[in-house]
Amino acid sequence: MSLRPTLDFLLYQWLDAESLNQRERFADHSRETFDAVFDTCERIAREKYAPFNRTVDTQEPHFDGEKVILPQATHDAQKAYAASGMLSAAQDYEVGGMQLPYTVEAAANAFFAMASVSIGSGMLTTGNANLLMVHGTDAQKDVFARNEFSGRFSGTMCLSEPQAGSSLSDVVTRAVPDGEGFEADPLGPRYRLKGNKMWISAGEHELTENIIHLVLAKIPGPDGKLISGTRGISLFIVPKWLVNVESPHPGPLPGGEGEKGSVKVTLGARNDVALAGLNHKLGWRGTTNTLLNFGEGKYPVNGEAGAIGYLVGKPHEGLRCMFHMMNEARIGVGTAATMLGMAGYYASLDYAKNRPQGRPVGPGGKDAAQPQIRIIEHADVKRMLLAQKAYCEGALALELYCARLVDEHHTAEPQAADDARLLLEVLTPIAKSWPSEWCLEANSLAIQVHGGYGYTRDFPVEQYWRDNRLNMIHEGTHGIQAMDLLGRKVLMEGGRGLQLLGGRISATVEKATRVPELASYAQALGKALQRVGSATQAAWASGQPGEALANAVPYMQGFGHTVLAWIWLDVALAALAADSAKLMAATLGRLAATRYFYHYELPKIDAWLRVAETRDLTCADLPEEAF
Ligand SMILES: Cc1cc2nc3c(=O)[nH]c(=O)nc-3n(C[C@H](O)[C@H](O)[C@H](O)COP(=O)(O)OP(=O)(O)OC[C@H]3O[C@@H](n4cnc5c(N)ncnc54)[C@H](O)[C@@H]3O)c2cc1C
Repeated sequence: MSLRPTLDFLLYQWLDAESLNQRERFADHSRETFDAVFDTCERIAREKYAPFNRTVDTQEPHFDGEKVILPQATHDAQKAYAASGMLSAAQDYEVGGMQLPYTVEAAANAFFAMASVSIGSGMLTTGNANLLMVHGTDAQKDVFARNEFSGRFSGTMCLSEPQAGSSLSDVVTRAVPDGEGFEADPLGPRYRLKGNKMWISAGEHELTENIIHLVLAKIPGPDGKLISGTRGISLFIVPKWLVNVESPHPGPLPGGEGEKGSVKVTLGARNDVALAGLNHKLGWRGTTNTLLNFGEGKYPVNGEAGAIGYLVGKPHEGLRCMFHMMNEARIGVGTAATMLGMAGYYASLDYAKNRPQGRPVGPGGKDAAQPQIRIIEHADVKRMLLAQKAYCEGALALELYCARLVDEHHTAEPQAADDARLLLEVLTPIAKSWPSEWCLEANSLAIQVHGGYGYTRDFPVEQYWRDNRLNMIHEGTHGIQAMDLLGRKVLMEGGRGLQLLGGRISATVEKATRVPELASYAQALGKALQRVGSATQAAWASGQPGEALANAVPYMQGFGHTVLAWIWLDVALAALAADSAKLMAATLGRLAATRYFYHYELPKIDAWLRVAETRDLTCADLPEEAF
């Protein structure tokens, strides 16, 4: 099975990605340039990632007392990724980027996520550098971001602490000005940081020359105390190795390195950031995950404990800066979850086509003299395969739709750009959480299709499930995403985001009503949309957040399934528009997945939304002793 035809259909026939080339920013691009990017990424993923997915799972990162050791395959894969230019794919030409639409970048990254999510491509590094391009000074961009885009340095995001995961207001890493003249450092106001950061992905390794940590920390007030809440949080660049910077060169650097005007950056002293330990994870083992100690004196700088950090943006605006990259990061997580689901779907489809077991139901069904059939011929196995297809291809469509909104937000006319921004706000919790839950369920079904073999390490599906189990936890847990959706996103700007979404869904309903074979789905979707609207109001009817949010997760499940029902109906319209005679098996498959979603999945929203709209407190009110 190849992902490419599905991706091509969704991008070109459904989302009309080519039309983006009419925008000035993407004017140099065409379907040919997009396809060339996909060809390259597909090849690198096939050659450098997929064959080593099991290797990186079994050869977990280990610390030899000095260095973290990763398999050679990880070094090779990440080198190939950096060489492809994907780290700066969406960046301006003048910083060495390709000025690709984000839609294309996200689609191209899907190949890597499917081949080996845990070898990792560049999500953290790109996100880190992109953030600096928006909030950093020119020097921070030149010294740190540019070297991340080239693959020479890599990046991390250091938010979580052992006692502060979901609740970032409880961050206690402290940043104090580093002596007199701290504000005059060319790399930004210089601070000393002390604290511990937990769960930091790619926090230590030898894959790149330097690691650029973006760290959330608090600057104490005049009384020396940390300001409580998220207001007190600032953002710092804390490089593993301090850097020496030579002033801009008038032309290319000796040896052809660098571009005209680029600065020469060499490594200086070791900064006071130390690995306290590696976390040993259920899955996603190809990526190191670390507890980092900042400023405990293992690597004193100028004889003093304290990690050197350079302020990014203004003091106390750290979370705002960090949130800048959240939409794309969450689309990235949703896409990773989707592609793990897709990898399991393809593996189980292949297995089901080849595994003989049992006989057809009916006369002679138990007659051992009759030949066995392949398990794909059993109705229940077909059910499990179609469920996976509906979850994963639907989720991929949703992620690409959201990626397209990112491009709209950045490049459309002002009103359309603003609508895209707001729509994205509402859809982002779904883009992150829906695939994390349902493509994980797809992985579970992929194991089930394999029977006992699926439960062994002889087949890849158990690893996909383990790798995917992370996605409901990081980048905001399921519970936190749900509270963000019901507690903030559907209410923001007077509920305009929800109205915008309702408008888009209604437009699809209207179109599908005119297509006889989709009309009943259109009707069901119209009802589901009304139900989401009334459940939102009913959940908030008492105005008590404690009551409204007690069932935020079931609400998000009902909301998410409604969104996916819309996505499938819209995809079905595009499939019929492209092939009304249904001559292609792919069209039959898309229509069947739509039908599956409306018959087997959408009816579930009734139970989910009911507890939200009745503000059912069965769980919330139960005293601890009763558990
Ligand atoms: C493999 C891995 C990689 C990670 N990578 C990074 C990284 O690179 N950088 C980084 O900064 N962090 C990273 N994280 C951290 C991740 O974002 C946190 O684990 C996550 O935010 C949850 O925090 P926690 O583990 O402290 O759990 P907790 O916050 O303690 O949550 C435990 C449970 O309680 C629920 N809960 C908590 N608060 C509430 C509430 N107010 N209302 C309702 N329910 C609540 C949660 O939903 C969850 O189910 C990573 C984590 C893992 C496991």
